[in-house]
Amino acid sequence: MIFQNTLEFAKELDQKDELKNYRNEFIFPQLNGENVIYFTGNSLGLQPKSAKNYVDEVMNDWANLAVEGHFFADKPWWDYHERFAEPLSKLVGAKPSEVTVMNTLTVNLHLLMVSFYKPTTKRYKIICEEKAFPSDQYMFQSQVNFHGYKPEDAIVEIKRREGENNIRLEDIISKINEVGDELALVLFGGVNYYTGQVFDMKSITDAGHKVGAIVGFDLAHAAGNIKLDLHNWNVDFAAWCSYKYMNSGPGNASGCFIHEKHHSSDLPRFAGWWAQKKEKRFLMEPNFDPTVGADGWQVSNLPVLTLAPYLASVEMFAEVGMDKLIAKRNQITAYLEFILHEIDKEIDGTEFEIITPSNQDERACQLSVFLHGQGKDLFHYLMKNGVITDWREPNVIRLAPAPFYCSYEDMYKFGQILKTGILSLSKS
Ligand SMILES: *Cc1c(COP(=O)(O)O)cnc(C)c1O
Repeated sequence: MIFQNTLEFAKELDQKDELKNYRNEFIFPQLNGENVIYFTGNSLGLQPKSAKNYVDEVMNDWANLAVEGHFFADKPWWDYHERFAEPLSKLVGAKPSEVTVMNTLTVNLHLLMVSFYKPTTKRYKIICEEKAFPSDQYMFQSQVNFHGYKPEDAIVEIKRREGENNIRLEDIISKINEVGDELALVLFGGVNYYTGQVFDMKSITDAGHKVGAIVGFDLAHAAGNIKLDLHNWNVDFAAWCSYKYMNSGPGNASGCFIHEKHHSSDLPRFAGWWAQKKEKRFLMEPNFDPTVGADGWQVSNLPVLTLAPYLASVEMFAEVGMDKLIAKRNQITAYLEFILHEIDKEIDGTEFEIITPSNQDERACQLSVFLHGQGKDLFHYLMKNGVITDWREPNVIRLAPAPFYCSYEDMYKFGQILKTGILSLSKS
């Protein structure tokens, strides 16, 4: 499609947008009585209007039924999490028994590493991406230390080549082969949080398995953003948070995937009563007999109040389906990219550089923009003028036009605000 940097053209794209009505299903922060332009759905998704109803339902059941709500609420609490299995499994390309919801992301990755990182003197190394999200880095270091190995020896980071912004698949594969039979675990992001680069999870999984390693993914920036096919890719395990693209609310619960092939294995796991087979859970017997499936990794009884808005969101995703979201995501991200290039040309062509891959197969809903000029002043200008974005050191703003609620008109307006900002700051 040939894009135009005009309000009329943007409005025309909105008119044709199959998902346009979903924008009204979300609550936008206001500036001077208008919706802000929200680019941080990759950090905290907007609140769906339905979320409050789901929370109120639990609050009312708690008020009216108290402890009886466990079994007699409309959506009983004791198996509330089972409502996620079907819709959530579709979102990540899994079987319903392969997904569960519990805890929070880093906690779940630690728990999964209990099962899937079992270093031996010969095979103890972990491969991850350079500049992984800090929580993942601390997790790797602490896990390696816990098992008595040295992080500088046991953690192998795949680096970007000199002068390049993204990691090459061939470099990942060759490092996996090089580490070979010393490699215990590959644990990669599905989408890099900083650059928005999408990794080829199938190829990474195949390569890891070929040398006898376990392969897992942190899908914080992938869940609800890209097409996932975890079961068929033969991924061993994965976890994600739900508050980014999945719009479930601040700090909210995580989701986990554990491949079916591991369900009946005797992998070590840290146990708790909520993993106990449903029919035995309230018998309070001493023998641990876990549910077969990802639910068998649960620990505590679930925080139903936080699952409520997550369920509201998952049901919205199930209603639309990832295919439509991805189609709009590709188009609106391409439009944003076009707008950025147009504005840059209208000024002098040196203001910024997009460090996210330009190839649509290697990116999703995020453009990371390296600002050469005004940097942080420009970021503050944008925020003051109703463009919500985020700043990442040393000089990057991340723009994620989430397809559920961002409009093409937003992209056009953003371009105008950006241009005015650059011009006014360069004068001052
Ligand atoms: C957002 C994010 C996290 C956050 O972890 P929490 O445990 O939910 O605080 C972890 N890893 C990655 C890659 C992220 O993008």
